[in-house]
Amino acid sequence: MTKSFADQRLDEATARIRHFLDNERPDTPCLVIDLPTVRDRFTAIRSALPQVGIFYAVKANPTPEVVGLLAAEGCSFDVASPAEIDLCLARGAAPETISYSNPIKKARDIAYAYGRGVRLFVSDSEQDVLALAEHAPGASVLLRILVNSKGSTYPFGKKFGCSPEMATDLLRLAAESGLVPLGVAFHAGSQQLDPNGWDAAIADAALITAKLRAEGVALTTVNLGGGLPAGYLEQPPPLSAYAAAITASVERHFGGLPDDCRAPRVMIEPGRAIVAESGLIRSEVVLVARKSYSDERRWVFLDIGRYGGLAETEGEAIAYPLRTSRDGGPVGPVVIAGPTCDADDVLYQNTCYQLPLELRAGDHVDLLGAGAYTASYSSVAFNGFPPLATHCVR
Ligand SMILES: *Cc1c(COP(=O)(O)O)cnc(C)c1O
Repeated sequence: MTKSFADQRLDEATARIRHFLDNERPDTPCLVIDLPTVRDRFTAIRSALPQVGIFYAVKANPTPEVVGLLAAEGCSFDVASPAEIDLCLARGAAPETISYSNPIKKARDIAYAYGRGVRLFVSDSEQDVLALAEHAPGASVLLRILVNSKGSTYPFGKKFGCSPEMATDLLRLAAESGLVPLGVAFHAGSQQLDPNGWDAAIADAALITAKLRAEGVALTTVNLGGGLPAGYLEQPPPLSAYAAAITASVERHFGGLPDDCRAPRVMIEPGRAIVAESGLIRSEVVLVARKSYSDERRWVFLDIGRYGGLAETEGEAIAYPLRTSRDGGPVGPVVIAGPTCDADDVLYQNTCYQLPLELRAGDHVDLLGAGAYTASYSSVAFNGFPPLATHCVR
């Protein structure tokens, strides 16, 4: 079977990372990011959605080299805190390319962002709009709406956004308070496996835009949030399917609006899709054990677990492809767990992983596709285990 171009590129990335690990032998566990893959993923999204402003969601992987590379490529940034603003600016991003997309922020953090030149904010409540009017006078604001994130592996639930009716009122309030009401924002849920998963929210955004246009408030923008998926054990539909569905949705729902609203400026905020496939976590087997003489399943304990950066194994939502230093021999079923004394620190007991029967303490287990939401989620020192170290290869 011949491999696709994408598979070949991933193999090349894995080879570069393995080469680094074999030569440098860093302590495990560690995350290694292949920077050419980050550039490649960003470029692929930009080519698939050429009219769309791409704002990298920094929380997915705040490694300074990743942020610097994306800034140099002309990417914009979605940030959630003063520290993320400082990071982007220090790595060469212009303040005009930063969107403060977290609707939950302190007044002094808004003032700090404004002081550093940030002029684009996302909001979802009256208190926050009023705080923006006071501490970021004249700034642009997008109102985030609640959406149904069916099809997503990681739905955002009800924490962010407000009803379309309330968002309409708050955009009006923004205009009255001297802010620039820019448009509607939403997040269709992370690892969105349905290319049409944005459609209903785009329809809501167009309805709000039409309603306000009739009152003389012309919105110019729609922010489609994150959700573009990455490949794990399960492969999502190709990027081209997402680009086609999203482009068609915007045309369908906004196409009938008056001239000044029918072709909105579109923003998207990918996190996972830019960095996941660039990362490999190398871990070491701490122990292989059985729980009874009759149990066929072995327990494999790694030196990384839920608190060391594998938070997305909760509910076994994300299943990373695994490679071991014993691959090639006979395999058998395993439960995979982390090294801490926390009963929840079990990574996979329902997902059917089979690992080599020869696997021993000291062997390596590599987790592929691990560049997103790993290092940034690792705890500082739960049970004395240090946070996940990140290395980059060029
Ligand atoms: C986390 C987040 C993103 C990125 O989501 P992905 O699913 O990783 O693409 C985008 N926008 C906002 C507001 C977020 O909070």
